[in-house]
Amino acid sequence: MLKFTVNATCIMVLQGDITEQDTEAIVNAANSGLLGGGGVDGAIHRAGGPQILEECKQIRAKRGGCPTGEAVITSGGNLAARYVIHTVGPIWYGGSNGEAGLLQNAYGNSLNLARENGIGSIAFPSISTGAYRFPIAEAAQIAVKTLLEFVKENRIPQEIRFVLFSDRDLQVYQQAWERNLRLN
Ligand code: ADP
Repeated sequence: MLKFTVNATCIMVLQGDITEQDTEAIVNAANSGLLGGGGVDGAIHRAGGPQILEECKQIRAKRGGCPTGEAVITSGGNLAARYVIHTVGPIWYGGSNGEAGLLQNAYGNSLNLARENGIGSIAFPSISTGAYRFPIAEAAQIAVKTLLEFVKENRIPQEIRFVLFSDRDLQVYQQAWERNLRLN
């Protein structure tokens, strides 16, 4: 586990299950259809119950889903978290199809939505690095850079967690933070 402060924000990088986090919001690596799926998306809907899917369906009916790189918010249903921010990371098609910018947007738009809703604490999974096959070292670097830029300009959320499912993923994200903090 890593825990440190940048500007006004406490940042934690830990191994765990995002559905068990007691942050005010957790982020879901959703897909554009917003109707649930495998991986972290399936885990969040299973743990949170039908309320989350119901709200996702309403958003889908209103605006046709969530384009890649954007984010929408629902309640947390039965989760400890009060909100779920659903964002859609890019599918990896080799790296020359705008993947990096879209992943940056997914993190940035999730953070913007958190700030707009006055959310004090938020937990992120490793977006796009599962079924969407984004190489994790590159994804971690994008996540860290996007977060660093955001926390330098914003005082909310006051706490941001990265919750990695495997020990290997935890190591990759910890290394990305250590590298970037040394450069700053
Ligand atoms: P994507 O489609 O964006 O790649 P996935 O859900 O397939 O999303 O994978 C994203 C990451 O989430 C993977 O590293 C996966 O191991 C991780 N993951 C799966 N379940 C959980 C969970 N309950 N908590 C945290 N991370 C999870």
